[in-house]
Amino acid sequence: MARSKCPSCEYHEFEAVHVTTKTGQKFCLIQCVACGTVVGALDDVKITNVIKNAERKLSKFLENLNRKVVTVCNRKNS
Ligand SMILES: [Zn+2]
Repeated sequence: MARSKCPSCEYHEFEAVHVTTKTGQKFCLIQCVACGTVVGALDDVKITNVIKNAERKLSKFLENLNRKVVTVCNRKNS
């Protein structure tokens, strides 16, 4: 995989900066640590949604797993 580099100063390290606009929209900017050139932006809302969806899927999965475990335990007891 090629190493990421800043288009301005060719530095290799980047940082995520959280920015809130006047309208209250939240963004996550990816900028060069050395010169501050912004190389990318992420929608903070989208990130949050992705995490929430993953959480929902995981909790559903755990719920199903719990049910299966309970069924197996009940079977052993009877
Ligand atoms: Zn740079």
